[in-house]
Amino acid sequence: MITPQCLKLRLTSMVLEIHKSATKDEIRKAYRKAALSSHPDKVPEEERATAEIKFKSVQEAYDILYDEDKRNLYDTHGMGAFNGSGEPGMGAGPDIDDILAQMFGGGMGGMGGMPGGMPGGHRPPKPRRSPNEEQKYEVSLEDLYKGKTVKFASTKNVICSLCQGKGGKEKAQAKKCSTCGGEGYKQVLRQMGQFLTQQTVPCTTCNGDGQFFSPKDKCKKCKGNKTVEAKKILEIYIPRGAREGDKIVLEGEADQVPDQEPGDIIFHLVEIDHPTFERAGADLMATIDVTVAEALTGFSRVVIKHLDGRGIELKHPTKSCGVLSHGQVLRVPGEGMPIKRSDARGDLYLNVNIKFPDDKWKPSPAVLEKLKEMLPKPDPLIQADTVDEVDYDPKSNLDAFGANDPAGGSAWEDDDDEGETAQCATQ
Ligand SMILES: [Zn+2]
Ligand SMILES: [Zn+2]
Repeated sequence: MITPQCLKLRLTSMVLEIHKSATKDEIRKAYRKAALSSHPDKVPEEERATAEIKFKSVQEAYDILYDEDKRNLYDTHGMGAFNGSGEPGMGAGPDIDDILAQMFGGGMGGMGGMPGGMPGGHRPPKPRRSPNEEQKYEVSLEDLYKGKTVKFASTKNVICSLCQGKGGKEKAQAKKCSTCGGEGYKQVLRQMGQFLTQQTVPCTTCNGDGQFFSPKDKCKKCKGNKTVEAKKILEIYIPRGAREGDKIVLEGEADQVPDQEPGDIIFHLVEIDHPTFERAGADLMATIDVTVAEALTGFSRVVIKHLDGRGIELKHPTKSCGVLSHGQVLRVPGEGMPIKRSDARGDLYLNVNIKFPDDKWKPSPAVLEKLKEMLPKPDPLIQADTVDEVDYDPKSNLDAFGANDPAGGSAWEDDDDEGETAQCATQ
């Protein structure tokens, strides 16, 4: 369940913030622009070979930045994680970092482990939008079936109302930061594998602003932080029929940052496994238990409780099916999951599990004799010239099947495929 704590996707550092601030959308746009300008078809013949290499690199860069896992890997290990050399910047063709710098107009200098860093004295532009806050939201199948509105309290940073995000008192003047010379960023050397690389990181003295207020000039309300924490009740609506991976976006509800449009809070729905139902798209599947007596003689009862609490009743036998077999599948049209933005529903597949009596069932010999008389007779006897009566273990399983084969070739492998399912004979 959601708590205000888990709502807060705190960014661990300014470095990460710049990194995170390039939204997928921005990456996509930058990629398109870079890909268009470097497309081999767009350049004169003599530049084609170079353009082809560059075009490939742009695609590679895009692949890395667009895929979150790869992006993390890149941030941690540099290009070495991808070109097989194990060392940053050893790939064929142009340095991927140059491409990245071009794609982002030189503004990605603070991005994680970018070897080489930014040219000194160049301050990366601030993102126009504060970062989105993305998180998983677990939903039960019941809630996905019925739809749900969830309200929760969220704590977020909002622009300080006293100083309007300035951070200082009304007439106070901010002082230029001497640590970074007012740039807000500084160059540091960092070990990247075997290399020492220069990186541009935000100045810690001024928090990347290039200036700060002296303690007596700081805004009393936000203490110079420009933002204060505020509680807000948020509401998300999970439509009926929503599924795993669906996104629910609360526009502009992420932390506020001065001079920036607030980002979104984005929930990624995660479907919690259900003990009874299995979902595939709009269809549902469940197993129902039927006794041998019911399978043979019929029943009329609720076989399963649906996700909205309704009992699903079946009558058996039907005209076309007199006896139920183990593994037989009953399809109930229109009792699957709702389909978003429509009245249609998927189907419900019921998998019949015939429950045979267990050891506690101790019928008298007379009853057994009667059953034998009533039930269908076995197939004709198997004829053989010699016959051996053997002992056997009635409670075995197939775990050891093939395990003693020295070649190991016929070891038993689990196979979920039950083969063909029993079918009703048409009468
Ligand atoms: Zn303030
Ligand atoms: Zn500074």
